[in-house]
Amino acid sequence: MGLLALGTALDWPDAKTKADQVRAWGIKQLLEIWNKAKGKERDAMLWGDEVEYLVVTYSKDDPKVLLSLRQADILAALAGDKDLSTAGCVPTLPDGSRPLANDPPPVFHPEFGRFMLETTPGKPWGIEFKELLNVEPNMKLRRCIAKDHMLPNEFPITLTTFPRLGSPGVFTEPSYPVSGPKLRSQFVPDEIANPHIRFPTLAANIRSRRGRKVQVNVPVFRDKNTPWPWKDPTVNYDLHNWPEDDDVRNGAAPDNFIHMDAMAFGMGSCCLQITFQAKNLTEGRQMYDQLSPLGPILLALTAATPIYKGFLADTDVRWNQISAAVDDRTAEELGEKPLETSRWRIPKSRYASNSTYISEDPRLRPEYFDPDLVIDPAIKQQLLDGGMDDRLATHFAHLFIRDPIVIFNEDLESLDLSKTDHFENIQSTNWQHMRFKPPPADNSIGWRVEFRPMEIQITDFENAAFAVFMVLITRVILSFDLNFYIPIRRVDENMETAHRRDAVIKEKFWFRRNLFSAQRAQKGSGSGSGANSPARSSNSRPASPVGPVEDEYRLMSVDEIINGSAAYAGGGEGGEDFPGLIPLVESYLDSVNVDVATRCQLARYLELIRKRASGELWTAARWIRRFVGEHEGYKGDSEVGEVVTRDLVGEVIKIGEGRGGEVEGVKELLGGFL
Ligand code: ADP
Ligand code: MG
Ligand code: MG
Ligand code: MG
Ligand code: MG
Ligand code: MG
Repeated sequence: MGLLALGTALDWPDAKTKADQVRAWGIKQLLEIWNKAKGKERDAMLWGDEVEYLVVTYSKDDPKVLLSLRQADILAALAGDKDLSTAGCVPTLPDGSRPLANDPPPVFHPEFGRFMLETTPGKPWGIEFKELLNVEPNMKLRRCIAKDHMLPNEFPITLTTFPRLGSPGVFTEPSYPVSGPKLRSQFVPDEIANPHIRFPTLAANIRSRRGRKVQVNVPVFRDKNTPWPWKDPTVNYDLHNWPEDDDVRNGAAPDNFIHMDAMAFGMGSCCLQITFQAKNLTEGRQMYDQLSPLGPILLALTAATPIYKGFLADTDVRWNQISAAVDDRTAEELGEKPLETSRWRIPKSRYASNSTYISEDPRLRPEYFDPDLVIDPAIKQQLLDGGMDDRLATHFAHLFIRDPIVIFNEDLESLDLSKTDHFENIQSTNWQHMRFKPPPADNSIGWRVEFRPMEIQITDFENAAFAVFMVLITRVILSFDLNFYIPIRRVDENMETAHRRDAVIKEKFWFRRNLFSAQRAQKGSGSGSGANSPARSSNSRPASPVGPVEDEYRLMSVDEIINGSAAYAGGGEGGEDFPGLIPLVESYLDSVNVDVATRCQLARYLELIRKRASGELWTAARWIRRFVGEHEGYKGDSEVGEVVTRDLVGEVIKIGEGRGGEVEGVKELLGGFL
């Protein structure tokens, strides 16, 4: 999350009066960059990852593991170290070479949680296959450097959420009382957020706009000793510090749900994001659309979030919780009250799966769009008048239905068209599962697409595997001109499905049957016509462009989507042909020049994903559930206590540092990849 500006942040009542100005200026800035950058061509195929850590203080002799709130000190230590790249941390490749020795040092960024760190490579990755081999060592290097700038008992870990964030008692170091003026949370102190004025203001203004605290309710996992109906025992119904303390007395905490009430419960989660630069605008729009339907599949595959606030949840991923944690919609926008002062009903939080497609691909049928997409018609008209095409104007007119949440007074003095700050204000608080990133104001880099749904994995091996997989999928999409379109509402449905426990092995997802189909005439089948053509069998038959949309997709397991159907592999009895994403990646790799060493390493990454999809290896969510379930301190009542949490984090530290061999039961998570 970039820090946009410094200055006087307006409280919501004042910010609200400036919203139209920010939107109007944001649109002017967008048009400025649009006109400057729309014809940009031949940008390099660069990409980059973002890895987020929780920082914990842990010692095996301490009964508690705590979140360390020393983000600022750690960042200062990192910033003060001029020679990060030789911090005694340079990992070597298996052949003994040190591929990263000449790379610029990694970059560390603040995040919402004062217990979080984000890190990116020192420069984006290039197009060469060989470079994919540097991703994992670079991620390891980043973890090592981060650790090197922490106290001896502090550790960067890659768990999506801290299991006891917001539990009664002490869970941070240092500890602060709850119920502060900004968050007004009964579970977490204001000091849980990054103190940079942007973050507490974001939280406070979301609450204020909404008219009550955010309501993050996660179904509790019902275990054999869980009392039922279950009432969250940590909710305090007798607090009277703030008007918002009435929320729980007004039903904010329903039975059988873990109840949370602050932005930190969502934005305090860690994820793995990948940003791709496209060669031009058209390709960027294509990548945005084609990666969209893959979002829920990758969310299910990376599931790693089975615990909230000290309880086992009945869901496996973080997505909906972040969505609720930043949901600033008013009662009117939510449809709970007739529209009087709000402009429209809004079906989704500003953190949600994306709601429209943006490409001008002729294969994009009108039926794939959401007929009820909410847009701001006046904004759309301005964009059209400014020369933007209808489809992209619709996308931005949808993003711009939102109010800016954090506004700095100093930025409202004059409009600066050499900046994009007002545009970014709205853009960067639309947290959708894909983000279409226009070039920055100086037009120095190209159009980019960010893939945002993946959960962070415990090891850098896994994080590298998923990052590299997405890179390869993107190459396959472009080189085979694949068509993943399904109606965008089905993508929403898949997003919900991905939340279910063990969705990766137990659920089915809407997915397109024929990835080579229709309407782009010869191009799709032509590009894959070699001996290993992925376009063999029924997948080379163009579907009728006029057939019903419902016939174009069906429910598939993640295994089928990733590994292909038994029928395709030739071993199935009946069933439908589907090639599978990994076999497509393999045939792509067969069709290009990749040296043996690189191909071997890529094969390991693909193997991990293949096995996660088939269930042979477990998701982190499943693995953590088993760890809790088998711990002697767990009573079968859904409660994840302090000792269980400490021991879990202890194992996660070991696995993350590459000492997984010392951890019992790690085989199901990582198999032979330890
Ligand atoms: P944000 O938090 O807004 O998504 P970050 O700067 O944290 O942005 O991360 C962006 C990612 O994009 C980083 O991994 C970075 O290396 C990568 N990146 C930077 N420049 C480019 C580029 N021109 N093309 C593709 N990726 C890039
Ligand atoms: Mg981040
Ligand atoms: Mg970032
Ligand atoms: Mg960000
Ligand atoms: Mg990002
Ligand atoms: Mg699995």
